[in-house]
Order: sequence, then structure tokens, then C-alpha cells
Amino acid sequence: MNKKVKKMYDYIIIGAGLAGCVMAERIANILDKKVLIIEKRNHIGGNCYDYFNKNNILVHKYGPHVFHTNLIEVWEYLSQFTQWNNYQLHVLGFIDNKKVPIPFNLNTLYELLPYDTAEKLEKKLIKKIGHKTKIPILELKEKSDDEDLKFLANFIYEKMFVNYTKKQWGITPEELDQSVTERVPIYISRDNKYFQDKYQGLPIDGYNKMFGKMVKNHNIKIMLDTDFNVVIKLLNNEIFFRGEKFDGKLVFTGQIDELFNYEFGELPYRSLQFEFETLDCEYFQEVGIVNYPNDQDFTRITEFKHFTNQENEKTCIVKEYPKTYNKDKNIPYYPIPQKEYHELYMKYFRKAAQINNLILVGRLAEYKYYNMDTVVDKALKKFNEILLNERN
Ligand code: FAD
Ligand code: UDP
Repeated sequence: MNKKVKKMYDYIIIGAGLAGCVMAERIANILDKKVLIIEKRNHIGGNCYDYFNKNNILVHKYGPHVFHTNLIEVWEYLSQFTQWNNYQLHVLGFIDNKKVPIPFNLNTLYELLPYDTAEKLEKKLIKKIGHKTKIPILELKEKSDDEDLKFLANFIYEKMFVNYTKKQWGITPEELDQSVTERVPIYISRDNKYFQDKYQGLPIDGYNKMFGKMVKNHNIKIMLDTDFNVVIKLLNNEIFFRGEKFDGKLVFTGQIDELFNYEFGELPYRSLQFEFETLDCEYFQEVGIVNYPNDQDFTRITEFKHFTNQENEKTCIVKEYPKTYNKDKNIPYYPIPQKEYHELYMKYFRKAAQINNLILVGRLAEYKYYNMDTVVDKALKKFNEILLNERN
């Protein structure tokens, strides 16, 4: 690449997922700088990508994505690029041959246990933990000193958590960082919604349209179907783009271990296999997602039409089969929140900190089990740091 081309870009962004697109949008619009996004897939949007399948049903290629947040600045930021349908996610769990509300709440309690037992446990839960409060399962197990509450904690653990977690992660809840099962705490309430966040929904015309609007800017160029390894190299803490030293900034949202050629060893991830089915009926299940903690090899079934209320005589579902991650075979969907892997991550992080024009952001680059709203929040904060630097 000759010098003229090299100067065309002030920023190179690896990955056109949420992190990459937020960064590109801010840099292009606010700083008015030239951005090149390099993405190995044939589309933008990363794991949030959605598309209309051959039956014209809007589906999520990489699993169900329902946006939810309490962060008004994140909500307002994304709302510049889309309107929302305000869909509220409801999840049922197939437990003891019944479909019951998940997260476990007071309604779940009454559906799974005899009325008198449930009534006694409800009173004890409210007294010990508090009405309308949430408590993670491992904390409930730990805090339950009374025999009845101990029974309940073990019941929930056995029926809802232990097998699902083993299926999803290949290990038990105790072997993972508590933050994983804390995502779905027991809710001492009658509220059946999966999330209680203030803002929730899906982009009214789909995620892909929203991403398209974000990156529609004359300052942004996107190279799809391109693995960054083909064009970017690191050498002596310097970045090279197509063989030339790159003096702009590199925003990296891919796997940090890959960036450093697995120098300290591979970071582990959990992968998934998605099995889509189109069915000749209007609806297949009662709600958007049904979890199968104890039965089946898959963890959950999503039926996309619940997300959108699309009218169609057919429906489309997807089953999620957790898989061991293999870098040559499948996609690294989940970083694994365990202490030893965080330590391995930190080795890469310290290495990255030596390169002064490298910025890490996103689920893979930060090796964190982030929801979409946190990714946007992190990206906006990284951008604000860039802004301060550019102005100094
Ligand atoms: P990604 O979306 O992974 O984007 C990274 C991009 O980098 C990808 O496009 C990838 O192809 C590209 N890339 C990687 N390596 C290279 C390379 N070598 N060269 C070039 N490009 C590369 N969050 C929610 O808030 N609500 C939900 O309901 C929800 N559901 C989820 C369901 C599933 C099954 C999963 C796995 C995640 C879910 N999430 C959900 C989390 C959400 O997907 C992430 O928070 C978000 O997509 C992360 O954005 P990102 O840009 O950091 O990463
Ligand atoms: N979980 C569980 N049973 C359930 C739902 C969740 O054991 O019915 C545990 C499991 O360990 C899972 C974690 O809680 O990985 C987080 O669940 P969440 O629904 O947030 O997972 P995600 O949507 O991110 O895959």
C-alpha cells in the first residue's frame, strides 16, 4: 500500500459489531475523521445481526437479541438510529413437565409446589429477603439458615440452574464467576418479565437497519469478508497496515488473544450451534423464549415472531446447542468468566497497553460477558477519552 492510501484513514476499526459500529459512528460524525472498518463476516452488526429469511420472517442469525437498559444515555444514543417496538421479553422454563415463569419468581413457586408449601415459603422469603427484591441463587443457598428456605434454595438450584449451567458452560454454577447466575436472580415478586429495565425493545425495522444508519457516513469505509490478519500486523509495539506503519489509531473489537497470535495461550470461549426450523403454523410456543434446563440437549428455543408480532402463516424457531469452542471450527460467543482466564486475559491486556495507538473495546477484546447496552456504554466512554486526547 502506498503512502497516499495509508493517509486515507485516521482510524482503523477491527469488527463491525456493536462496539465497532458505535466507535465508527462517533469518530466519523463527531471528529469528522476517516474510518476504515475491517470485518471478516459478510455483513455488519456482529452477533446482533438480523435478516428476513426465505419466508420473510425476521430472524436473528446468532441467537435472540432483546435490547434492555437502565442507561438513559445509551438508550438515547441508539434511538438516534432507530425507533423501538418496546417488546418486553417473557421466558418460560420447562420444569417438571410444566412451562413456568423464568426467572424464578413467586408465580413460579406456586406453579411448582403445592399451595400450602408455596404459601409458607412465600412468607419466609418475604421476611428473610424482602418483597420485590432479587437474590442470586448462590446467595440464596448461602443465606438460607432455616430448613424450609434451604429446601427451596436447593429446589430452585436443582430444577433451574445446575443442569442448564452444565449444559451451557460444561461446568457448575459454583465453578463460574457468580456474575453469571446473578444475571437471572430469583425475584420475590409476581412480575413475570425477564428484565425489569426501564428501557426495553427491539429496533422497529430490525437491528440491521439500525446498524446501517449508524455507519452511513462518507467518512466510513467498510471492508467485509476480510480477516484483519491479512492486512494488519503488529511488530515491536507498532501497527502495520498492508506493510506500512500505521500512525492513526487502531480500534480493536475482536479476540485479544488472536491479535497477539496466542502468545500466552488461547483464551477459552463457549460456542453455540443454532438449529433453525420453519414450521407450518402461526405460532409454536407461548412466549419468545422457552428454556429447557433439564430436558433436551439444547438450552432454549426462541420463536422470533413474538419479538416483532409479524403476521405470517408460518413461524421460525431456533434451538441453541452449546458447544466447546474451537478456533478453526466455530464462533467464540461467550468469554468464560473464571478467575484463571481473567488472569490470562490480563497478560494480553498489559501487552496491549504497550501499544499507544491501540484501543480495545467490546465483548471479545475486553473478554467480558457484556450485554449490548454495556458494550454501547463502554464504546461511548472510550470515544470520550479519544475526544479529550484529540482536543489536547
Ligand atoms: P461482536 O458482536 O462479537 O462483534 C465483533 C465483530 O468482530 C464480529 O462481527 C466479528 O466477525 C468481528 N471479528 C472478529 N474477529 C475478526 C477478525 N479476525 N477479523 C475481522 N473481524 C473480526 N445482549 C443483550 O443485551 N441482549 C440480548 O438478548 C443478548 N442476547 C445474546 C444472545 C447470544 C446467543 C449471544 C452470544 C449474545 C447475546 N447478547 C445479548 C450479547 C451481545 O451479542 C453482545 O453484547 C454484543 O453483540 C457484543 O458486541 P461486540 O461488538 O463487542 O462483539
Ligand atoms: N441460567 C440457568 N437456567 C435458566 C436461565 C439461566 O441456569 O433457566 C443460568 C445459566 O448459567 C446461564 C446464566 O444463568 O448461562 C445466564 O443466563 P442468561 O439468560 O442471561 O444467558 P444468555 O442469554 O446470556 O445466554
